[in-house]
Amino acid sequence: MIDEVQTGNGRTGKLYSYMHYGITPDIVSTAKGLGGGLPIGATLLGEKVEKMLGPGDHGSTYGGNPVACAAAYCVVSRLGDDFLARVQEKSDHIFSRLQGAAGIENVTGLGLMIGITTTKNNKEIVNKCIENGVLCLTAKEKVRLLPALNIEPEQLDKALDVLLEACK
Ligand SMILES: *Cc1c(COP(=O)(O)O)cnc(C)c1O
Repeated sequence: MIDEVQTGNGRTGKLYSYMHYGITPDIVSTAKGLGGGLPIGATLLGEKVEKMLGPGDHGSTYGGNPVACAAAYCVVSRLGDDFLARVQEKSDHIFSRLQGAAGIENVTGLGLMIGITTTKNNKEIVNKCIENGVLCLTAKEKVRLLPALNIEPEQLDKALDVLLEACK
């Protein structure tokens, strides 16, 4: 059973992150990016467990509502091979610009879910980025990047300029 709430829907450069590891889970949970901003979650059941839930077994008041489902349908229909390849290209670009740059000790992650170990305090860096119009996050001691999957390369480079300056 794999929780893909955060890692699913192309975030790591594949449709689901388990696809990086050559495994086939029985149950996958997905949400967040699935709705492209509208609240929706879904559970995918593989062959072994597909009969465990029947219609009405897992109801909720607004569950499966047509508006959120239309949003999810739109998101999922855009997550084709070309889109995922562009996510991976942008990821490679981020890694290559950040690795070895001044003030950056290590870059980890998959796709557009990236963690950076910095020489300077991470909160200082994030505040500096926010001052200069780039929103990023902290995660424990790291700086965390989760750019929109459809970010334009020019916009990504502008953000990386700000981040690299803040890390110096
Ligand atoms: C956000 C998140 C959840 C929780 O999702 P909710 O819809 O807020 O309950 C569960 N798992 C992971 C990995 C998450 O990132």
